[in-house]
Amino acid sequence: MTTPQNDYRILLYYKYVEIKDPIAFADEHRAFCQELGVKGRILIASEGINGTLSGTVEQTKRYMEYMHAHPLFHDMPFKVDEYHKHAFKKLFVRPKKELVTWRLKKDVKPYQKTGKRLTPKEFYNMLQRDDVIVIDGRNNYEYDLGHFRGAIRPDVNTTREFPEWIRNNLKDYKDKTILTYCTGGIRCEKLTAFMLEEGFKDVYQLDGGIVTYGKDPEVKGQLWDGKCYVFDERISVPINQVEETVVGKCYHCGNPTDRYINCEYDMCHKQHLCCDACEEIHQGYCSKECVEQDMVKYEA
Ligand SMILES: [Zn+2]
Ligand SMILES: [Zn+2]
Repeated sequence: MTTPQNDYRILLYYKYVEIKDPIAFADEHRAFCQELGVKGRILIASEGINGTLSGTVEQTKRYMEYMHAHPLFHDMPFKVDEYHKHAFKKLFVRPKKELVTWRLKKDVKPYQKTGKRLTPKEFYNMLQRDDVIVIDGRNNYEYDLGHFRGAIRPDVNTTREFPEWIRNNLKDYKDKTILTYCTGGIRCEKLTAFMLEEGFKDVYQLDGGIVTYGKDPEVKGQLWDGKCYVFDERISVPINQVEETVVGKCYHCGNPTDRYINCEYDMCHKQHLCCDACEEIHQGYCSKECVEQDMVKYEA
């Protein structure tokens, strides 16, 4: 057996910066990416860019050089993972109103206001203090696969539900030191800005997110439990290089697992944690209803 060669790279990046004409920028950017041959999902808004893409070592290197030659993006950090093939099937470069859908009543510009940034080492040190509140800046299903030890699980399905959840659940913590984190850092930019607007006084964000934390040579991903959910074909990646734990639980039987699958019924497609055994027992469906609905489809 030969091990697959990791001659592909997966890039994750964002920058909040004013883009004058996002539609024209997206058209030009799409043409460049098509020509280059990278695949993935890139969002362009008047407030900046947010992307994740895959390509060969050479393609991704040219992409990073191209972006770093642009006056708006010369200092944009890239998180780079090795992989053996494309991690996306298609290329989407879409103009959007917002990079992350917050729809805040009073929008905030992270380049004007945001929480204080912590390096992985600083974050690791503060995590161990007992007077800080750690809030996961992602959705419930991401938390369920893995999270920082002791972090609070926000019961939200989408980022848009965050403001209400914060108002309902964290109002007594406004004088506390708050730490937030998310996958690559982008969601914490507005999350921490929103919290400052709401009157929280001491708010920090993990700069570069969980994936940067996992690559730090000194911290080695410590105090992370489980895996980190990612938005490409890999679905999850390891973070903690020192101790490996499984925190995910099978949706059907409750046994530990960190495998996410999509429900076999096309109209449901619910992403759920499912152990090996239960995938076969339930044939990849999330529920009895979905088995029945799938039958109806064919009978009709
Ligand atoms: Zn199971
Ligand atoms: Zn289902």
